[in-house]
Amino acid sequence: MTIGWHFDNTYSKLSNTFKEEIKPTPVHNPTVVILNDNLAKDLNLDFSNISKKDLSEIFSGNKIPKDTTTIAQAYAGHQFGHFTMLGDGRAVLLGEHIASNNKRFDVQFKGSGRTSFSRTGDGRAVLGPMLREYIISEAIHTLKISTTRSLAVVKTGEKVVRENLLPGAILTRVASSHIRVGTFQYIAAKQNLDDLNTLVDYTIARHYPEIKSSNNKALDLLNLVMEKQCKLVVDWMRVGFIHGVMNTDNMAISGETIDYGPCAFMNQYDPKTVFSSIDKFGRYSFSNQPPITKWNLARFAECLIPLINKDENTAIKLATETIDNFQNIYEEKWLNMMRDKLGLYGNDENDKKLINDLLNWMQKNKADYTNTFCYLMNIEIGSNNLYDDKDFVNWNKDWQKRVSANEVSKENSLELMKKTNPIIIPRNHKVEEALKAAYKDDFQVIKKLLSNLNNPYDKKKGIEDYQYPSNDNGYQTFCGT
Ligand code: AMP
Ligand code: MG
Repeated sequence: MTIGWHFDNTYSKLSNTFKEEIKPTPVHNPTVVILNDNLAKDLNLDFSNISKKDLSEIFSGNKIPKDTTTIAQAYAGHQFGHFTMLGDGRAVLLGEHIASNNKRFDVQFKGSGRTSFSRTGDGRAVLGPMLREYIISEAIHTLKISTTRSLAVVKTGEKVVRENLLPGAILTRVASSHIRVGTFQYIAAKQNLDDLNTLVDYTIARHYPEIKSSNNKALDLLNLVMEKQCKLVVDWMRVGFIHGVMNTDNMAISGETIDYGPCAFMNQYDPKTVFSSIDKFGRYSFSNQPPITKWNLARFAECLIPLINKDENTAIKLATETIDNFQNIYEEKWLNMMRDKLGLYGNDENDKKLINDLLNWMQKNKADYTNTFCYLMNIEIGSNNLYDDKDFVNWNKDWQKRVSANEVSKENSLELMKKTNPIIIPRNHKVEEALKAAYKDDFQVIKKLLSNLNNPYDKKKGIEDYQYPSNDNGYQTFCGT
């Protein structure tokens, strides 16, 4: 019974400081509820000769492939600004699967039982939040944004105690690795320089081999991670994604979006938008995501200080200079991204004002972020007289003038916009609708939603119902452990 796993586990060979060897706790009666065939293909896995029952045993962790050493990884994290030692409290790393062209992927079960890092938690996860991670991570992937993926969700056949009894579930998460800023914080907190060197070398070998023989590996690593994280957060700002819980343990060194909890997409443009019920002060609001990225990178830099230079003051100076550069890198990437959203080629000194005028108008008039750009691309968004507003009409004239000054044709400009602006995003009420149906064992709604989200930049017939926001006032998301 094999689906084509090809494991080569390197992280589990690191010393015990980095992890705990542990097996997933078997579950009573697992059933697969969703499988990601597209991802399976990318991973060179084949489910076709395996029964549903066997797949359920595999993706619940009841049947572990031979020659694997399953582990829970140690990490720490600043959660809403407070430092805590954490670790995989409800996840187990099955191993590293090698796909074709030697690409290496972590395969992890989330919701697979208690580990030594569980603290007071039960190590389990609930169906709704695991399917939510599946939907949103796949949506982020089809939006062409770097992310961990979801290979399967299995119902465990066991009830999990939350505010009431809920169906337990396990998500199979696939990531280029699960090394987080928090992993570095954990090792740095232990104050063993050999372990810190090991982690830096391991991370570079796995993600940034181009700097493996550089003179200052730690500083170069900081720069490369900053570059990746900048790109990621600009992509989130492009599509209106709010991660919701950007703690340092939820920031991957690879630059992938990781740990989908209370995340959601913004409808009406408002930089202060927060959906997470626990984010009382808006620390992780839409417009705070870039400064929080910088804050998290500063925590990463602190871990690397002992390796950046033997002299602590010199090391701090070098790290600070690097982190201070975040603003410039971000602003440039953000401005270019917004130019793309508006089909602007080249740069004009008034571009920033033109962009900010539109954003301010959207905020004042409660305009939908996604659909405003659809309107500008002449994509049907239903009857809406919002855009007859005098201020918008005037802005539109300025924008048209700027587009005409492009050195390329109007068609090229529109092409650029179409590649940048999604037509369809996972609207909050649609996600909720799919989860509600799943709790009643109806998985057709989620499948239809996923199939509609498959090509988010293409206008297809029959997606109108997925294009419009519902009234989001008061929409709240939960961490969903
Ligand atoms: P998260 O909110 O998923 O980023 O998790 C933060 C920390 O809490 C991690 O160390 C998790 O492993 C741990 N955790 C979350 N839920 C549970 C649970 N049900 N049981 C044990 N640990 C958990
Ligand atoms: Mg986490």
